Amino acid sequence: MTAGELIKRKRDGGSLREDELRWLVNGYVRGSIPDYQMSAFLMACYFRGMNEEETLTFTKSMLYSGDIVDLSEIPGIKVDKHSTGGVGDKVSLILGPVVAACGVPVPMITGRGLGHTGGTLDKLESIPGFRTDLTIDDYKRVIKEIGLVMVGQTNQLVPADKKMYALRDVTATVDCVPLIAGSIMSKKLAEGIDALVLDVKTGRGAFMRTSQQAVELARTLVKIGNGFGKETIAFITDMDQPLGTTIGNWLEVVESVECLRGTRGRGDHSADLMAVTHVLAGAMLMLGRKVRTIAEGVERSKCAVENGTAYQKLLQLVEAQGGSLFAVENIENYSLPRHTFEVKASEGGYVGVIDPVEVGLVSIRLGGGRATMDDVIDPKAGIVLRKKVGDSVEAGDVLAVLHTDREEIIESARGRVQQAFAIHRKPPKHRPLILSYVDRGGVKTWM
Ligand code: URA
Repeated sequence: MTAGELIKRKRDGGSLREDELRWLVNGYVRGSIPDYQMSAFLMACYFRGMNEEETLTFTKSMLYSGDIVDLSEIPGIKVDKHSTGGVGDKVSLILGPVVAACGVPVPMITGRGLGHTGGTLDKLESIPGFRTDLTIDDYKRVIKEIGLVMVGQTNQLVPADKKMYALRDVTATVDCVPLIAGSIMSKKLAEGIDALVLDVKTGRGAFMRTSQQAVELARTLVKIGNGFGKETIAFITDMDQPLGTTIGNWLEVVESVECLRGTRGRGDHSADLMAVTHVLAGAMLMLGRKVRTIAEGVERSKCAVENGTAYQKLLQLVEAQGGSLFAVENIENYSLPRHTFEVKASEGGYVGVIDPVEVGLVSIRLGGGRATMDDVIDPKAGIVLRKKVGDSVEAGDVLAVLHTDREEIIESARGRVQQAFAIHRKPPKHRPLILSYVDRGGVKTWM
């Protein structure tokens, strides 16, 4: 077998056997298959796809590239959540502490920024000292002690996804159902969960642009999860504009902390973020058998924010994983980058569109993401939205504030963000935040 032959077969629309896919994945992890051959294979998959059997085999090959954590000694039903990726999507930072505070253990393996979207791992690492590369023993110790742990892929845990994820990020091979399914489900099945909630994003800023594509991905993910004996529910949620008000790693931590403290998230521009968070948390609490219905779980989730237990859980997480409590507890004093500059509306009307892909890409250019695998992120870089879709604006109003150390890109970034906002004469039509969900019974409409 040679990598070239397998790439050629996939390129020409053929399918690969289990032993062939396992050989490719393991060879890539060990280093006998180089990045350039794996890139070519991923691009062939992007154009040709995989059949159902290949998708399952690919997922298993990635899963068995490392260890599978056994959390059976920890009491309770362990439940995690994963998003297919969005702009300003900091839901996991809020929801992990909320659900753990309600008594359901949450073990989470998460990823870095991917394409134009941000990653929970980069956000967590923007907290000074926060360690995401725990050994399996430390991972188990932290979840045992505080009921919550958030780490990245390591050389022990899904090493295939650790390498392939970084490669896909910079080779335009992200938005492909079998590659997303393999990446997400290998991580989730390795972490020791009993049940899973997925947030499949759809809209301008999602990898699945249409709700049909999102449902197809949701069905694939749910089938794999249930096939492994993990009760899985996938929500289809809106990603037509950035979630909440911030895009960029440390800025998103700040917004999350403020939402957990209850000083943001109700009746303001972070309300969409909290609405999605509470529904996903409600479903996790139902799967964790703490409540009977998602609606009951939503109330429990809101309570955990209001009574401060969710914020306390975040502080426990930060301390347990070596992060600076001082930085989180004094979040309002965070240091700004060298430059902050405003983007203003050139005309009046209503914000009809905020193009999330463009906003995500500008945030990367400001320093918040990677253009190549070796790029180092500036945690402070990013964008704060002052207006969201539906808001009325006057000419000269501030639409967004951009944060960066890179003086040379200020003018182009300003122009691109101004273009990302479309100002219309009439208010836009309302879009629901949660569209539907998929469980083992099929697709269900939401409320
Ligand atoms: N999240 C992942 O973990 N992997 C993907 O491929 C997309 C989103």
